[in-house]
Amino acid sequence: MSEKAAQTKQAPETLDRVQRFVNTRNRMRGYDHLESSKEARRWLEESGYSPVDSVGDTELARLRELREGLRDILLSHNLGTSLEVTKASSRLNDLVSTTGLGVSFDSAGRPLLCSPFTGTEKAVEDMLIAAIRAGYEGTWQRLKACANKECQWIFYDASKNRSGSWCVMEICGSRVKMRSYRERHSGTPRDAS
Ligand SMILES: [Zn+2]
Repeated sequence: MSEKAAQTKQAPETLDRVQRFVNTRNRMRGYDHLESSKEARRWLEESGYSPVDSVGDTELARLRELREGLRDILLSHNLGTSLEVTKASSRLNDLVSTTGLGVSFDSAGRPLLCSPFTGTEKAVEDMLIAAIRAGYEGTWQRLKACANKECQWIFYDASKNRSGSWCVMEICGSRVKMRSYRERHSGTPRDAS
């Protein structure tokens, strides 16, 4: 998926940070910004989570677990609930139980969820805060993983009836439809790629 194409289906603030985070892994292009501690640190710093002293194995695993758990849930916004969502929710509940998320009041007296940390843990908690906020605003279900299992790129479905399935119809929609057409007409499943 090209960055330009993805931008056309960008989520509103602050949900866009969840979209950007889960899209640190691009299956179609084969890159992963959280592949190593070094890359994760660079991504965090570029995303405004400085200072990041270092990203150890535990922090890296935590970031990846959050990312893939969110992806499973965002896929369910497209394909419906499944056992994967139940498992993902359970894993995320374990992860959430060890955060330092708190509540504070800003200078205008508005209550806000807040993170007491900087760096990696701040990033984790910012994703959770953005997800909670989207849940209240009714936009959470619009953030979806592409229905093409080889893609699963995260896009924002702004359509009136929330019927979008693909990050880019012309790419993933056509590809999957072509594959199922071939399977129907050949009698045996085939890989269209
Ligand atoms: Zn796609």
